[in-house]
Amino acid sequence: MGRLKQFFRCYWSIILFAISAHLFFLPQELVAAPTNNKPVFVIKSYRSPKNVTRKYRRVTKFIILHTTEGSARGALEKLSKNGECHYMVDKDGKIYTIIDKNRIAYHAGVSMWNGQTGLDSMSIGIEIAGYHDKEITKAQYESLRRLISELKTTYAISDDRVLTHSMVAYGNPNRWQKRKHRGRKRCGMLLAKPENRLKLGLKSKPLFDPDVRAGRLVDADTELSKILYSRPKKASTPKTQKETIPVVDKTVVQPSGSYVVTNQVTQTKSQTPVVLTTTTQPFVFKLPSNIIGPGRSAWDIARDLYNSADTIYHFPDGSTKTGKEVKKWKSMPEGTRVEIGGGEGSENPDVTLMEIGKDGSVHDITGDEILAGTTFYFPSNKKGYYLRGSQQTIKKLEALPEGSFVLVGYKVGGPISSKKPVFNICGLKWNMPDTYYFNSKKGTLTSGADMDEKNIPTGAYVFYQE
Ligand SMILES: [Zn+2]
Repeated sequence: MGRLKQFFRCYWSIILFAISAHLFFLPQELVAAPTNNKPVFVIKSYRSPKNVTRKYRRVTKFIILHTTEGSARGALEKLSKNGECHYMVDKDGKIYTIIDKNRIAYHAGVSMWNGQTGLDSMSIGIEIAGYHDKEITKAQYESLRRLISELKTTYAISDDRVLTHSMVAYGNPNRWQKRKHRGRKRCGMLLAKPENRLKLGLKSKPLFDPDVRAGRLVDADTELSKILYSRPKKASTPKTQKETIPVVDKTVVQPSGSYVVTNQVTQTKSQTPVVLTTTTQPFVFKLPSNIIGPGRSAWDIARDLYNSADTIYHFPDGSTKTGKEVKKWKSMPEGTRVEIGGGEGSENPDVTLMEIGKDGSVHDITGDEILAGTTFYFPSNKKGYYLRGSQQTIKKLEALPEGSFVLVGYKVGGPISSKKPVFNICGLKWNMPDTYYFNSKKGTLTSGADMDEKNIPTGAYVFYQE
């Protein structure tokens, strides 16, 4: 008996030892994990109520970086209310989740990259509290670096597919541009600079605009494209041995148009802060003034905010008008100063539905796309009809009355029926804000954002971006 008791005592002590050892070692292992591999912590207090209406993306090819162009608090409220991004990074580095990362957020608007359009359905959007022409904070760089790293791993996205909104946004013709163009927005542009991308942990970037190169778009903002596609500077000898300097000394241009930093030497001699550029002349790009003059229009200065209520025109005679109040755009006096709207919130939502009269003449709105098969007209004097540009004559279109609506760069499908559901026509674009339903009986156009899944009108035609 004594032996048996001893055996059990021994047996139990082994089990107890094993359990305690397990409890002891397990947390140790977790604690020992490198701190930079910790999952990124996100704050959920501004999670968007729009989540429930947003579909899951089928693919995720890009991460798109934005600047809010307004106060952080105002931006958070607006972004959350409208579901306009997946994450927002505040000045103190705190990361807010807005739309669940697998669902669609409306952040890219009218967008194109390498021939693909409507990037909302294939990208993650990150808003950064700040302005396109001002450096963001160190805390923001650090949080962004970790967030981007995690998302790149989750979705297998390469460095050269982390883009700024200004790289992918494009504009349809307007008063100043006859063709579809790049340069509609400058959103997030400084994050395309090579030295800033290194701070974000990104070692490659596109070296040219694939859509401009292919002739799908024209470059309407060469000041911007110089920044977006600037190349990393060659390394020079460090001034002092005390700095910790990643040196970019060799770049290879790949056929895809991106470059890869192939030889990044890091010298660690002391604990002084990391200096990311080693050029003797730092990359400084001075943006031209905000004064209207010869060859410099309101659009050149304010881009798609030119007609915003937040943009203020200070005329030489001392009077002022907002972008909404200005009527005679082309006879704006020289010397007018443009104050681009800050205020609460963020960028203007993209408005693709244009109105003859309010948005200019039919030529202003359509430019070289006037007779395109992707341009559609909704005459205000002929309710229930729509016209396709390619089936019209310029004379007929010039005769369209004020109040007629125009869509440029669209496809049409329909009429919607139980056999031809809208989902089969335009897929995930069915409830995008820039998708429109045309009810031919009533002659009304309704945005996809106002459409209820259970209540899609049969007989309607759906217009969606190409
Ligand atoms: Zn943006």
